[in-house]
Amino acid sequence: VAAIPEGLPIVLTVALAISVRRMAQRHVIIRRLPAVETLGSCSAIGSDKTGTLTENRMTVQQIDAGGRRFEVTGIGYDTRGEVDGDGSGGVRPPALERTLLVGALCNDASLLESDDGLAEVLGDPTEIALLVSAAKVGLVKDVIEDRYVRVGEIPFESERRWAATFHRDEEGDLGHFVAVKGAPERVLELCDADLNDGPLDRDGILAAAEEMAARGLRVLAMAWRDLDGPPEPSGDPGRHIERLRFTGLQGMIDPPRSEAIEAVRGCQAAGIRVVMITGDHATTALAIADRLGIASPGDPVLTGAEMERIDDGELDRLVGDVAVFARVSPEHKLRIVTALQRNGHTVAVTGDGVNDAPALKAADIGAAMGRSGTDVAKEAADMVVTDDNFASIFAAVEEGRVAFDNVRKTTFFLISTGTAAVIAVLASLIFRFPLPFLPAQMLWLNVVTNGIQDVALAFEPGEKDVLRRRPRPRREGVVSALLWERTAIAGAVMAIGTLLVFFWELNAHDDLAMARTAALTTMVLFQVFHVGNSRSEHRSAFARSPLLNPLLFVGTIVSLAIHVAALYLPFTQFILRVVPLDLETWIRMVAVAASIIVVVELHKLVRGPRTAPARKPLAA
Ligand code: ADP
Ligand code: MG
Repeated sequence: VAAIPEGLPIVLTVALAISVRRMAQRHVIIRRLPAVETLGSCSAIGSDKTGTLTENRMTVQQIDAGGRRFEVTGIGYDTRGEVDGDGSGGVRPPALERTLLVGALCNDASLLESDDGLAEVLGDPTEIALLVSAAKVGLVKDVIEDRYVRVGEIPFESERRWAATFHRDEEGDLGHFVAVKGAPERVLELCDADLNDGPLDRDGILAAAEEMAARGLRVLAMAWRDLDGPPEPSGDPGRHIERLRFTGLQGMIDPPRSEAIEAVRGCQAAGIRVVMITGDHATTALAIADRLGIASPGDPVLTGAEMERIDDGELDRLVGDVAVFARVSPEHKLRIVTALQRNGHTVAVTGDGVNDAPALKAADIGAAMGRSGTDVAKEAADMVVTDDNFASIFAAVEEGRVAFDNVRKTTFFLISTGTAAVIAVLASLIFRFPLPFLPAQMLWLNVVTNGIQDVALAFEPGEKDVLRRRPRPRREGVVSALLWERTAIAGAVMAIGTLLVFFWELNAHDDLAMARTAALTTMVLFQVFHVGNSRSEHRSAFARSPLLNPLLFVGTIVSLAIHVAALYLPFTQFILRVVPLDLETWIRMVAVAASIIVVVELHKLVRGPRTAPARKPLAA
């Protein structure tokens, strides 16, 4: 009974379940229980940028059209801003007008304006931003859609990076046309003239896009082409997407989440690498990564196109230095995850799209986004982040570490008290002494008094330094070498103490029942003290207030009270074959049992510093 820690599976489940509940309060839903433990050893997080590290509240700040730069004022989805120099008094520059029109037409979002100017919005934030900027000059989607009726579309795909819609002008003389918006370099490939059919200044446009991206803006290019008629229903609408006329660029800001900035700092202190994985432009990604503290200006950025050109060996070398991956598709995400794993990392990765499923599956912890995530992504994931926030992933890592600590603490407590009982019984067998415990007493010890305490121990709150340590190496077991050593020492001390009391009583009273009662009670007292030792691996038992874990405090008192009651109630006296003890014996037993505190404190002192966690954050 003592040799088999039968409480372990229960305690393990309890510890993990508690942390599942704690995580749920912090916006993380665990889909597979073992993920809790894996989270505790997470050493690298690959995170999407848009929506996870940033707020995903895009606001157009700059427009570049017809060779001119326009500043756009207003915050968020408030349509009361203005487009500077839009010539609202007179005539609006045609390129600007067309750029805003394309942004609003090639758009599936919707925006319901209310009286205070703040709009109700629905759809992709990138598209909402384009609706808001158009509304600032009076181009309201609902109105213009009545005039320019949509007759076809090619929806956005992140692999393609552009979208197109086909329209017919009901009122004016624009006839049929197609409106295209997407990543500037992709859209420019499809263009061959400017809006006035003049020559296209590709370098100038790309330089402007780059300059906007360097400010952290996500840049979308708009283009236009007149058509003779609607796209034929049976044909491939994609064949019209060529020889477009370039109309302009819109640059939108998506501010980093303030909690994400803090969480990134927390990750660095906790020795966790943070890697940004985004479909956005390299310059935009780096600018935002800089604000988040993930990278600094001038740091290397690896793009999807570059990843295509290198093999896995080269990638394995590069992932050590690169913290920003831009213009990547989901298949690249999978390669990034496996490269980090080959570098020895335990990797958590975020994802929302259907195509993210392989990366979510391959990662040690797949984290699907609760709001923007597809069902496929959630299905493939180990956890779901209900608020899509990077900070919640970090919180889950913290809870995972606490959970692992608690599993470790309870395991240590269980195994060392079990070891003590085993040593005591084995020693008696070897030296042919009378047995210090009867089988029923052994059960009592293991199931009742010990059982209450180790379940309560699983409720320990986290230690102060849980986010200051390096991630636990993946191969490190639940019981570390240090704890095995401590288990052996503590087991021996408790066994010897118990046997000492046993023989003292046997000599003094020559009463086996009384000696056994004293041995059993000594063991119970040892447990009471030792549970205090088990609350921290490295820190003194006195450094932690007993009230930090009220359940353990009460549980310990209860288990002691139950035991004392058992000594005096006739029914349990009969079952357990125990007898009441006098005060002098109690004092002796308490004195002996307290020795375990001294011994373990000494062990923590001697073996503490060398095995203590690293305080210095790992260089990421
Ligand atoms: P992420 O979500 O990682 O920021 P996406 O795959 O959504 O990246 O977007 C990649 C690029 O595709 C963006 O930088 C932008 O240029 C373009 N893009 C994004 N959303 C749209 C859209 N709705 N229509 C057209 N182009 C878009
Ligand atoms: Mg996106």
